[in-house]
Amino acid sequence: MSDDFKKNIDLALGNAKRLSNKILIDGKLISAKSSNKIKVVNPSTGEQIGEAPQCDKIDVDVAVNSAETTFHQWKKIPARERGKMMTAAARKLEERKDEIETLLALDTGNALRTQAKPETTASIELTHMFAGLAGEIKGENYPPNIPNTIHYTTKDPIGVVCAIIPWNAPLFLTVAKIAPAIVAGNTVVLKTAEQAPFCALLVCEILQQELPPGVLNVISGYGEECGEPLITHEKVRKVTFTGSFSVGKIIALKAAPKLCPVTLELGGKNPNIIMSDADLELAIPGVIDGMRYTRQGQACTAGSRVYIHEKIYDKVLEGAVDKLSKLKMGNALDETSDIGAIISEEQLNRTLYYMDIAKKNISTEILHGGNQSKGGEYKDGFYYEPTLLSGLPVSSPVCQEEVFGPVACAIPFKSFDEAMKSANDTPFGLSAVLWTKDLSRALQFVDEIEAGFVQVNQCVAPRANVSYGGIKMSGLGKEYAFDSMMNHFTQSKTVLINRGKSNIDN
Ligand code: ADP
Repeated sequence: MSDDFKKNIDLALGNAKRLSNKILIDGKLISAKSSNKIKVVNPSTGEQIGEAPQCDKIDVDVAVNSAETTFHQWKKIPARERGKMMTAAARKLEERKDEIETLLALDTGNALRTQAKPETTASIELTHMFAGLAGEIKGENYPPNIPNTIHYTTKDPIGVVCAIIPWNAPLFLTVAKIAPAIVAGNTVVLKTAEQAPFCALLVCEILQQELPPGVLNVISGYGEECGEPLITHEKVRKVTFTGSFSVGKIIALKAAPKLCPVTLELGGKNPNIIMSDADLELAIPGVIDGMRYTRQGQACTAGSRVYIHEKIYDKVLEGAVDKLSKLKMGNALDETSDIGAIISEEQLNRTLYYMDIAKKNISTEILHGGNQSKGGEYKDGFYYEPTLLSGLPVSSPVCQEEVFGPVACAIPFKSFDEAMKSANDTPFGLSAVLWTKDLSRALQFVDEIEAGFVQVNQCVAPRANVSYGGIKMSGLGKEYAFDSMMNHFTQSKTVLINRGKSNIDN
């Protein structure tokens, strides 16, 4: 083990220990009222690294009351002042970057060099972006319909926001929700994901040092026991969620009786389409990057259906396999690892389940991977080889359902229309990529593809100031850009003031 690897482990374990059994209420790290605990495990080694409080209704109540009491003062602070506080908080994140990225890698199993560091950088940038936009939270002036009347709209904060996040990008998703909500004048209760609670808690602990106590509260716990009472709490006025479609649907239903607005960022089964005229120097690495193999495929935007024109099918797959064979899988905190570990045994089993379906199909060809990695440095951790399959019918569940693991299916096609018909034949509509040199084709693709996040000749991950979100069953609303702050975290008043006639003689 190198000195750097050891240093990373010590730093991350130290923070996990310090944050174990803690929630953040009223600006302080405290113990929860619930005495039940959730075991938190390092995906890279299977070892327990701490415990998270298994909060229930009572802790939810404490957190929401803190946020609600603070809201009445926080909303009166001028927006620019709120923005300045968030800028100061973002600077604090920069100062403690090493701690954040190592804890992120420990918490999630996402490799430090390829994932945790870039996610930390992107999260700090996103926090700065929303902080700087504080002065833009404004309504509109309308020409009056009635003489002597002033007619305008305001953009006001909504109140207590409930933010629920998953484990796959817990840092970016934390700031994507809390930074715009808080800068817009709301207060927040964040529920972390039970599998990866520590990094989000660390980031919120750091951020709240520059904010008044109670603006940002963090609890941990299971969905039904902690998430549901949070959503249905009478004082929660807005819900923002990232996670699976099945939970997103429950959340929308739970929030509906009080007409609570909901933002949902859900799953996808995303097409990555390579035309015969594509620049293969770009498209072949694009298969690897697009599938998010270096995040073990645990990304909503993973391009897991790789449509390849039959003329270049073999060439693309040969190139992709060559690239896959060069990726090094290992402990997330070792900076030589390109790929880390799958988050949990449960998620590993999900990959095994879909691979079992694939292996039982006689037409399946495993071009790369196809095995759980066990023994040696993989012993006790949750590792699965990056896997590329060919030959499966598109109707297979492996090609239709979100595996959320490192498994992509290659699908040959003869014509653009055939590829598009198949690409759109899914209830999801999150992201889609096309590789071509033909501008007309690219524009036709943009017109016809049913997805909310569309790219041509690149497949970058969403980032600051890229308005991101799905259509169809992939979600409601867009995040990460200015419009998300305005649309999701403000409400509007329409004001008509009749100035009448002055009664003062002059
Ligand atoms: P994933 O499959 O990525 O784990 P989930 O949708 O299951 O995604 O979980 C994402 C987040 O939603 C987690 O914080 C989880 O605790 C929470 N959650 C799960 N079920 C519910 C529920 N019924 N109500 C509220 N939150 C839930």
